[in-house]
Amino acid sequence: MVLAACGNGATESSSESTGSESTNKETASSDDGIVIGFSMDTLEEERWQRDRDLFVARAEALGATVNVQAANGDDAKQLAQAENLISQGVDIIVVVPHDAEVTASIVEKAHKEGIKVISYDRLIKNSDVDLYVSFDNERVGEMQAKAITEIVPSGKYALIEGADTDNNAHLFKKGQMNILQPLIDSGDIEIVYDQWTDEWDPANALANMENALTANNNEIDAVVAANDGTAGAVIQALAAQSLAGEVPVSGQDAELAGVQRIVEGTQTMTVYKPIKLLAETIAEQAVAMAEGNEVETNSTVNNGKIDVPSILLDPISVNKDNIDDTIIADEFHSKDDVYKYSK
Ligand code: BGC
Repeated sequence: MVLAACGNGATESSSESTGSESTNKETASSDDGIVIGFSMDTLEEERWQRDRDLFVARAEALGATVNVQAANGDDAKQLAQAENLISQGVDIIVVVPHDAEVTASIVEKAHKEGIKVISYDRLIKNSDVDLYVSFDNERVGEMQAKAITEIVPSGKYALIEGADTDNNAHLFKKGQMNILQPLIDSGDIEIVYDQWTDEWDPANALANMENALTANNNEIDAVVAANDGTAGAVIQALAAQSLAGEVPVSGQDAELAGVQRIVEGTQTMTVYKPIKLLAETIAEQAVAMAEGNEVETNSTVNNGKIDVPSILLDPISVNKDNIDDTIIADEFHSKDDVYKYSK
């Protein structure tokens, strides 16, 4: 294993790094410590910054060093950054893929050098990826649709989905359809708009929701939005038509702004995924795998090529009634922050 880059205690900082996300600090035992390469799609959303911080903290507590790279949605950049990590001789690579298919080549290249790869939260498809750790994402979609159909059991629905390139976005939609399809079949619900959100970018979700409203003369009774970023955009579009708070909207990630909107009454729900558990589980598995130990999994997920050994964690549906018992009790956000605008 090539660890020469860290041998003299110097910090090897990659020029590809965008600055703030570079956390490749030295540890006391750097000569024989595990070095983890963490290749992230993006740090442009609140949740991923939290993922990074928790992952790095747990890995460092275990004596490992993490070299974090973020590609900010650029496939070529993610590949170049991962290749750089491989050539630095990291012991293991953890990938949050931007594109589920494109990142398969990271697995191939890493394996050629004997480096294992873990898929973080999002599945790398059509590859021999060694481990996948995420939440039960189909369940996330079911929670979103269930919360909305309980309030609007019949009417016109708009679906504002995630990025087509992200396998999770497909799983969320699959879960949503498990709940919606019987209601569509019975004629209670009509899907009047259904669109992916390119790059998960709220600006794209805003444009989509504006189109949905215009095309339907504002006659939309409910919106299933895939995460809090897209939900915020949907609510902005509704607000411009004086409909915010009138039309139920789902979300996901328990972002502070999303939770504040739930308190305010413009967003119906979010899905809280205990990111700490995800990040710490993956940091622990990364160190164990890099040390050559077996990992314990609770599931397998087919990625088009193999049944990937997987660990799937439980998501939690949150509305205004259980914010205190979930998000605040877990100290995911403080009570002061959550209720900041409600006093
Ligand atoms: C994650 C979501 C996140 C979305 C956009 C998905 O893969 O599971 O938690 O909101 O990506 O970053």
